[in-house]
Amino acid sequence: MNKKIAVYPGSFDPLTYGHLEIIQRTSKLFDEVIVAVADNLSKKSTFSIKQRLDMISQTTKHLKNVKIKTFKGLLVEFMKKNNAKVIIRGLRAVSDFEYEFQMSLMNRRLYPDIETVFLVPDEKFIFLSSSLVKEVVRLDGDVGEFVPDVVEKQMRKKFKKRGISHSLGKIVKNLD
Ligand code: ADP
Repeated sequence: MNKKIAVYPGSFDPLTYGHLEIIQRTSKLFDEVIVAVADNLSKKSTFSIKQRLDMISQTTKHLKNVKIKTFKGLLVEFMKKNNAKVIIRGLRAVSDFEYEFQMSLMNRRLYPDIETVFLVPDEKFIFLSSSLVKEVVRLDGDVGEFVPDVVEKQMRKKFKKRGISHSLGKIVKNLD
């Protein structure tokens, strides 16, 4: 059987309800969805690759046709290896468009068989981004409506730890 496989690549640092909604929409449209978490050395991430994979797998376990994998290097090489021809990206605002447009043309140049499909989230997630959610948690705000529980817990843990080491650093400095 020729399975229709879609790859949804991203940093997912961490996963938000915006990402999750795109995964759900994609899982209805394709036989299989591979969420491809970028292990990108040049882009510093807040969460390790393992933490990001764990959070996604806990949140998507009810979706039986969703797999989670990690990839390094060129996305098109990952697509070829996984026998997938469709890239899924989410479009939130006009500001996403230019970069996404360029990237999709570059990917097509690198591998002409590929199509990029853009999905639009529910408007309640349009303003959501991983970096904005992290900022709210750092400032001790409530993010329960933006990220799943497991993600919120992981974020609180991470930023609390950082907060402590940051404060300890200050104390040590003052003692010097
Ligand atoms: P990247 O570093 O590849 O942009 P992200 O994890 O930020 O990784 O995003 C992965 C994909 O998910 C991108 O296509 C992005 O536009 C999309 N996305 C992120 N947040 C949302 C959201 N709130 N609604 C819809 N799509 C989103």
